Amino acid sequence: MIRKLISRVLRLPISGEHKARPKVIPFAQHGVRRDQMSSPALKVVAALQQAGFQAFIVGGAVRDALLGLTPKDFDVATNATPEQVHHLFRRSRIIGRRFRIVHVTLEREVIEVTTFRGGQESVTDAQGRILHDNVFGSQAEDASRRDFTANALFFNPTDETIIDYHHGVRDIKQQKLVMIGNPTQRYREDPVRLLRAVRLSAKLGLEIDEPTRKPIAELADLLRNVPAARLFDEMLKMMFSGHAYACIRRLRSEGLHHGIFPLLDAIGIDDEVGHEFVRLALESTDSRVQQDKPVSVGFLLAALLWHQVRVRWQTIQEQGEKSTPALFLAMSDVEAEQDEQLAIPRRFSATMREIWATQPRFEQRSGQRPFRLLEHPRFRAGYDFLVLRAEAGEVDAELAQWWETFQFADPATQQSMLIREERSPRKRPRQRRRRKPSAEA
Ligand code: ATP
Ligand code: MG
Repeated sequence: MIRKLISRVLRLPISGEHKARPKVIPFAQHGVRRDQMSSPALKVVAALQQAGFQAFIVGGAVRDALLGLTPKDFDVATNATPEQVHHLFRRSRIIGRRFRIVHVTLEREVIEVTTFRGGQESVTDAQGRILHDNVFGSQAEDASRRDFTANALFFNPTDETIIDYHHGVRDIKQQKLVMIGNPTQRYREDPVRLLRAVRLSAKLGLEIDEPTRKPIAELADLLRNVPAARLFDEMLKMMFSGHAYACIRRLRSEGLHHGIFPLLDAIGIDDEVGHEFVRLALESTDSRVQQDKPVSVGFLLAALLWHQVRVRWQTIQEQGEKSTPALFLAMSDVEAEQDEQLAIPRRFSATMREIWATQPRFEQRSGQRPFRLLEHPRFRAGYDFLVLRAEAGEVDAELAQWWETFQFADPATQQSMLIREERSPRKRPRQRRRRKPSAEA
């Protein structure tokens, strides 16, 4: 009775007729409780409902709760317009160019409130990519505009029901990631979905449903049309999902890593040391994310691009250039290549460069140089990077150990540890001129 009533109410379209009839799944069948959601998210939904609007927690939060994971961020979908939402919440602002959404801040949490989106009037480019989609629609249309069935669930905290238009609950229970509609067409509309498929399946341990998986490799080139900033954002989401290594492996197995994503050419590395280095860097990032420890974007980028820098560094040295200038040339080359596809914002690339630039300085263990390196603002990051290189077998473990001891030793021990220049174990001829690396000026 009640279910019928609710579904009748929900079928009321806001604009345009839509025939889809959703399943209204009661708590007993899905087990998601309102207290799995954050208090600000519940308050936003309650305020909208009290004002007479429909409002639901939607997307990733419902999916994660169903999987027994703790949702990180909360999205609310409503039939209120952005202006109406803004009017209801004092600390809110309307943002977005492509589709306007409202950010409501409550108890230091930002809840993203989106008006149901409609589907018909999108403008696409020659590849089928959606350029504009700013049309309001019904809840059913909104569900169909979402990417995967698992992401199209609406949770009503008031009665703890889930409104399911596309068998999302069933698919999640079967651990499947299924694209809504025709997968090829949906990837063409928005090629970032190719990466989302990989990221979500790796992060949630879901199998990509075969028809959803099949077109991925052959559509990989579509990623070239995606604006660099969006690609970079999605890349960061992967790297900081807590499952970066799994994401990278899956990108590779789905054929998405080459060319499009020069940053991720690192995964294609045949060289064992290079591969091991990326694995160690990503696994250490994953464990930090999983323990809620801070992670540095600059450090991770430095790690992902290191193999390319290292190979280039070596080639330039073989051509007769000295170690430090060769490294700086290699760094510029790799950055220039990278910039063509995936522009790295300055604030991250500066850290990345500083970390690289410290590396040859760790080999200098005589005179005042080690003391100057200890004072370097990036000493810690540079040292952590050196440790990874040592673990991967790229530099002597003894070198990393030396620095581990040296940085904490008392002054007398430090003096005794210095290596006299003539006994320097370096094979390269000593540099006469002392050059200050330019990136640190
Ligand atoms: P997470 O937050 O764990 O990264 P998410 O699925 O919540 O995953 P968001 O980017 O927060 O990802 O998006 C929220 C919701 O918006 C998604 O669950 C999905 O319903 C919808 N969505 C996001 N990106 C797309 C897209 N490219 N195409 C269609 N729907 C999308
Ligand atoms: Mg989300």
